[in-house]
Amino acid sequence: MLKDLLDNKKCFKLVCGAGNEDAQEVEKLVTIYSLAGCNFFDLCAKTEIVDAAKRGLERAGIKEDRYLCVSIGIDGDPHITKAVIDQGKCVKCGKCKLICPHDAIIELDKYKVKKERCIGCGQCASNCPKQAIEMISQLQDYKEVLPKIIEKGIDCIEFHAISTDEKDVMEKWLQINEYFDGMLCISLDRSELGDKKLKERVSKMLSIRKPYTTIIQADGIAMSGSNDEFGTTLQAVATAQLFQNAKMPAYIMMSGGTNTKSIELASSCDVHPHCLAVGSYARKIVKEYLQDDNLLDKPDKLSKAAEIAKSLVDTVMKEK
Ligand code: SF4
Ligand code: SF4
Repeated sequence: MLKDLLDNKKCFKLVCGAGNEDAQEVEKLVTIYSLAGCNFFDLCAKTEIVDAAKRGLERAGIKEDRYLCVSIGIDGDPHITKAVIDQGKCVKCGKCKLICPHDAIIELDKYKVKKERCIGCGQCASNCPKQAIEMISQLQDYKEVLPKIIEKGIDCIEFHAISTDEKDVMEKWLQINEYFDGMLCISLDRSELGDKKLKERVSKMLSIRKPYTTIIQADGIAMSGSNDEFGTTLQAVATAQLFQNAKMPAYIMMSGGTNTKSIELASSCDVHPHCLAVGSYARKIVKEYLQDDNLLDKPDKLSKAAEIAKSLVDTVMKEK
């Protein structure tokens, strides 16, 4: 059970991307990382993406001890934004295409964002010399989306509670609790709220939950960990430390800027999360394999990709 993995601190979560709507890539990612021993997968909240992840698990031939989570965003959450190029301002310099870590920008007669591949990291917008790129929020109607996804069979719902609108956060949290009685995850960082408010918010959210039926995802800087450095992990460790010290009746997962250095850094600060989630770095190390449309029909190549992924999973689990 997912709970056992968390109790034993044996949980590694692959973040396929809360905004990653590329079903083919998600199927490949789940296949590769499932073969590599990863046991928890974070997905965009779309039924076709849950289906793709399930196909990945099937392909890997693993029927037990693999768990699926979908991420639900809120207004202000960067994970649910998509880049949009204003063609009137674009001078076709190509910088955005070069910098995009997810190959989401294509050049035809003009530069265009492939919406299903955009994970909302914002790197293109920050680097566009003409400020021609806007990040637009893609809010979903929970009432419409959640029942269909829950029907598919998932193990966890992750709620991105990064917003200063307390009322909106609590209303949506109550709705999610009404719809789903499995494990829930609260994802939030220190960017908007101070430490005191952050703890108060999580305490309030946990007050309607039974002990240890919730994961607190202590986020650092979202989508920043693609280089294997200590620096990008610092914020996630600080957030996890805050919750660990608060001794709340919930599991703690570190995410956002995470990589192979995260557990080492956390341990040296006496922070011991129940789970580590890795996204950008995990996807980057198998990127060249993901680019092969026929990867899943090439067992040798797939094994090589799984070996690379396993080195990450094993490093994290060994450090834990
Ligand atoms: S970086 Fe900006 S100006 Fe350059 S191609 Fe991209 S959108 Fe256009
Ligand atoms: S750089 Fe990030 S925000 Fe921009 S298109 Fe690529 S994935 Fe989307």
